[in-house]
Amino acid sequence: MQELSSARVRSLYIHVPFCAQKCEYCAFYSEASSGELVNRYVAALVRELELVAEDLKPKTIFFGGGTPSLLNLRQWETILRAMERLNLLGAEEFTIESNPATVSADKCKLLRDFGVNRVSMGVQSLDEKLLDRLGRIHSRAMVFKSFDILRRAGFDNVNLDLMFAIPTQTMEIWRETLNEAMAMQSEHLSSYEVIYEDDTPLFQQLQAGEFAVDEELACTMYEELIATATRAGFRQYEIANFARAAKSGALSPIHPPILPVTHPPIQQSNTPSSHPSTNPATSCSIPSLACKHNVNYWRGGSYHGLGPSATGYVRGVRTKNWANTQLYCEQLEQGRRAIESREELSPLRRAGEIAAFGLRMNAGWPFEEFQRVTQFDLRCDWESEMRQLVERGWARFAGDGFQLTHQGLRFADAAAEMFLR
Ligand code: SF4
Repeated sequence: MQELSSARVRSLYIHVPFCAQKCEYCAFYSEASSGELVNRYVAALVRELELVAEDLKPKTIFFGGGTPSLLNLRQWETILRAMERLNLLGAEEFTIESNPATVSADKCKLLRDFGVNRVSMGVQSLDEKLLDRLGRIHSRAMVFKSFDILRRAGFDNVNLDLMFAIPTQTMEIWRETLNEAMAMQSEHLSSYEVIYEDDTPLFQQLQAGEFAVDEELACTMYEELIATATRAGFRQYEIANFARAAKSGALSPIHPPILPVTHPPIQQSNTPSSHPSTNPATSCSIPSLACKHNVNYWRGGSYHGLGPSATGYVRGVRTKNWANTQLYCEQLEQGRRAIESREELSPLRRAGEIAAFGLRMNAGWPFEEFQRVTQFDLRCDWESEMRQLVERGWARFAGDGFQLTHQGLRFADAAAEMFLR
């Protein structure tokens, strides 16, 4: 694969495992926050950062959760100062997920001062009843207020997360939410259909027959999402993700994964690393405000994952941290990483995964780029799968690449599964 054993990793994910309360549909690892445990987590996270800092020169940083914005000013300052001391700041894209109920002007200022330049806000709905139905802690008024605070603080790259096919959500309510969200003029939009994960209250309600899933309505809502977002100037670049182009430029060729830099670093700037064999002709352009951190996942790039339950992928090895905050803290207090499992993937298996992830993107896979990233050729190793998908109308050969069609994107998970080895 593309990585050099001596190269530093350019992408960092940090999981903050606390929420004010658990949402009805949520299967992410998080728990209700208690002051003491959060402080202990912060100290453990700083220790984990110290353990991996030598192997990192982040071009993208993403704090997800959980609810990262739940951390208080003092806790944020502890983390950010540690990152500064460890030379981990200065990323080209530094995102923090937030809940509209936990955004404040002083927190925003601190984050901006340390280089956070993107905020992803979990709006989910702008209908008061549906927010309640989902178990969200915020109101619609808080969404508008928090968005205003973010703008005043200078955040000019904001993502809004929306959900559709929520039980009792009608098409009319979805349209209203979409239109109101478009009027906010965010730079990025992520929108997911509700998923019924085992062990969530929403799943249990479904099992108990309290409501039924209307697949047809979900499809119509998805179509409405694409049409409305496109009319509003967004460009869809992944099944659930839409972005605008930055005002200064139209589109940027950021498809290739974020490649590691040589260790020790030759230069200190944050300009994107380039690969000698990258052929711009095969790198389809995507909106310049697409989430670079996620594009790196979908393009098979490496990343370190820190915090309870976080996964990482570095030099062919996938790691997963313990999904248990107490245990996570204990391990780090003893000076070692809290890794529950390590899995070395065979090159073919990893290539299959990379093929599957990349097909989630509208641009699909340029053949040469896939070959450069994985050393496998889609045209040889997955020839029959690609033909089957084309026959089904789910995919097409486009120029020097392969991509899912509009219909295929709707069934991307099933299509992607065919590439796994
Ligand atoms: S805020 Fe996000 S992570 Fe927390 S419970 Fe709700 S959906 Fe899950």
